[in-house]
Amino acid sequence: MRVMRKEAGSSQKKSVYGESMETFHRAADLVGLNPRVRLELEEPDFEHIFYVTIDTRDRLVPLDKDEEKHFLDLPASSVKAGDALEPLANGNFLLHRRALLNADIALREGVIRIPKRGLFRIERGGPRKFKAYRIQHNQVRGPYKGGIRYHKDVSLDLFKTLAAEMTWKTAIANIPFGGAKGGIRVDPHAFSREEIEHLTLRYVYKFKNYMGPTMDIPAPDVGTNGDIMAVMLRQYTDGERDKHALKGVVTGKDVRIGGSEGRVMATGQGAVYCIEEWARVTGFPLQGARVLVQGFGNVGSAAAQLLAAHGCKIVAVDDAYGTVHADAGIDVAALLAYCHGNPENLRHSVAGFPGAAAISKADFWKADADIALPAALGGAIDGEVAEGLRVRVVAEGANGPVTLDGDRILAARKIDVIPDIICNAGGVTVSYYEWLQNQRMEHWTEQDVNARLERAIKSNYAIIRDIANDKPARTNEHDSRPFCIGRQVDMRAAAMVLALKRIEAHYLLEGFSN
Ligand code: NAD
Repeated sequence: MRVMRKEAGSSQKKSVYGESMETFHRAADLVGLNPRVRLELEEPDFEHIFYVTIDTRDRLVPLDKDEEKHFLDLPASSVKAGDALEPLANGNFLLHRRALLNADIALREGVIRIPKRGLFRIERGGPRKFKAYRIQHNQVRGPYKGGIRYHKDVSLDLFKTLAAEMTWKTAIANIPFGGAKGGIRVDPHAFSREEIEHLTLRYVYKFKNYMGPTMDIPAPDVGTNGDIMAVMLRQYTDGERDKHALKGVVTGKDVRIGGSEGRVMATGQGAVYCIEEWARVTGFPLQGARVLVQGFGNVGSAAAQLLAAHGCKIVAVDDAYGTVHADAGIDVAALLAYCHGNPENLRHSVAGFPGAAAISKADFWKADADIALPAALGGAIDGEVAEGLRVRVVAEGANGPVTLDGDRILAARKIDVIPDIICNAGGVTVSYYEWLQNQRMEHWTEQDVNARLERAIKSNYAIIRDIANDKPARTNEHDSRPFCIGRQVDMRAAAMVLALKRIEAHYLLEGFSN
């Protein structure tokens, strides 16, 4: 699935959803999709938009340089800092009232000087309202399934796009789920852990009637994680008689509370299984292959670790706050410790990593490499970036990282693309294993999980490749004969053909209730 423009901050009027459905319509034409099924899939089943409110705490916001001039003579206050001044990832501090206990305060025009930290304006907290979404795209194959995103630039248009993508992805992964996506328009870096927890509680409180282990099953996405899933689980199950039967209401949980072994790495692992298949078929050796990774969060960091273990060299990593490059290869374990094992690094960013040189985002995409793994947000590889790329394959770890223009240029330049709907399907596949384990009250080993995942990803990838090459085949691992369409198509269209054929079967065999 592709989006024409960047998700973040764009003011263009064109709908991301409309553009992203281009592949759907192309594949629907190719398979001669039943017209009523096309209508069913063209728009989501339900678009839930609602509001959540929370009480926020007072904050200390750093003064800018111009403002500081007026407070040079303000004496420092001796506040009880420690955990009473809670640092936020955006540079602000949360002011817990206990900071003022026995404090010696000098306050002028609402400005305070904190020793070793500088000048801050105290901003009053209070009630705040946030827009929340859950788009339930389709459930013909099973309960709605999809991530929860906390980000400042989300919109109905974007969530519709991502929810539809889940419908295609669950069909391609051949798991009995439909597609959904949702979240909250919020910058999680501007709020404390406690405030985000309250936001999550309110989200579940309002949405509870529409979710459930056999109805709609959220998972982590950008800006959310296993901790947030734990809060959702608690809010959903608290006080329920049969709470243990409801564990599967969210996936991506910590393994200690019903999560699956292998889930944290699963999306990256799935992308790496796809890259392995690509390398095997094209005869490209992964040992020594040079890799660009965009995004060093859940997907990017897991894929980077696994590729490094294959002997690949991660030559550059780009994230929201910086880009680092080392021609001889970055020490991934050290970068991981720097970003995710370091409490000082509140943004979990690669910026400032001492083991590599800082470069610009533009130079990142032009770096000499074999594999590009965009694993951040959508729209990263537009036409201009695609022109400059010097890789053989783009493995779409993120959702929709290549725009329509980017796609055209990559095709013209004969750079392969492993489409997102198969490349990042590892996460939802292991989410399904987690859900199965919860329903059955089982706990599988990591080896079991990965063996199943590898079979699932590689066999579905092989079907998509056969559709693309129009080479129907049956092996012990896969059977592409029912899906090939009598002509060759690009990999993206091939993936969508597989999704549509699997989805359409439900409508054709079960029929419509009238
Ligand atoms: P995450 O929040 O853990 O990490 C996101 C990363 O992207 C961070 O390193 C962040 O700094 C970086 N980033 C954000 N904006 C950026 C920008 N403008 N330029 C460069 N980097 C930027 O998120 P995640 O869970 O790793 O998800 C990444 C992508 O993968 C998303 O598109 C998500 O929808 C998709 N995805 C995730 C999963 C999953 O299981 N987590 C599954 C399928 C797809």
